[in-house]
Amino acid sequence: MNRIQFQKGISLNQFLARYGYEEQCEAAIEDARWPEGFQCPKCSGKQHYCYRRGNLKIFQCCNCRKQTTLTEGTIFHSSKLPLTIWFQTMFLLTQNKNNVSILELRRLVGVSYPAAWRMKHKLMQIMYEQESETRLSGRVEIDDAYLGGEHPGGKAGRGSENKVPFIAAVQTNDRNNPQYAVFSKVRSFSSGEVTSWAHRSLVPATLVVSDGLWCFRSVANAGCDQQREVIGSARKSTSMECFTWVNTVYGNLKTAINGTYHAFDFQKYAHRYLGEYQYRFNRRFDLAGMLSRLIRAAAQAGKMTEGWLRLADDQC
Ligand SMILES: [Zn+2]
Repeated sequence: MNRIQFQKGISLNQFLARYGYEEQCEAAIEDARWPEGFQCPKCSGKQHYCYRRGNLKIFQCCNCRKQTTLTEGTIFHSSKLPLTIWFQTMFLLTQNKNNVSILELRRLVGVSYPAAWRMKHKLMQIMYEQESETRLSGRVEIDDAYLGGEHPGGKAGRGSENKVPFIAAVQTNDRNNPQYAVFSKVRSFSSGEVTSWAHRSLVPATLVVSDGLWCFRSVANAGCDQQREVIGSARKSTSMECFTWVNTVYGNLKTAINGTYHAFDFQKYAHRYLGEYQYRFNRRFDLAGMLSRLIRAAAQAGKMTEGWLRLADDQC
């Protein structure tokens, strides 16, 4: 774990040297959008010239004369915020060990709450989408997991109301170290949900280690093997070695998310909060690289309106 905890990442000084000015952020987006140089979205022509209209950097195609702004069709499009604010937000979301809430973001980068909400949700959506292709393989510990609704005196664990159920899954290697994780919101713990989750998230022939919860047998429908560890009358065993990593990672996730968000909108957007945590977890070996990868993904993602962000649920 030390290798992960003591890696350098990007210092504030390094960040400011690279992305402290609007022109530097523009150059980074241009590079991420068109790694081979500008290409006209209409005719694919490469010959162009650039000019500015106010703060907008505009590319005009020499062949068909179509004008394209730098941020058109990206998540930065129609945002009134300077790109430096977006980059500061991406720096905070990737280099900070803990989650950054919308309220903290608002304070740290100095924007309104709605602006911080839009930036944070757009970036969480990108992280969620980037993680949608993640498949676990080899040996994978899984567990039924819940977030939210943890009021004192309320019921705990399975069956509680107002909780968001999700599957927590952690892949371990030969030395029994955790490698990658998947946290997937489910409607319920049913055979159908587990089957479609296993098709999406597991490579066939994965060895799935789970407790006795009936629905987990359905991983066999996706060609996986199940090692079922029956716990007995105790509701959960945190002491069983075969569940060490899924218990540890799930515990850390709960602490991070419940500690930061107190989220009233948690149920609706749980897939994004889980996606953000999963994104950071699965890239924790390369903290420094996480920022440039997020910048690239953000520059290549399509635009998202606030209405869409507020409606969008995950596909589960
Ligand atoms: Zn053109």
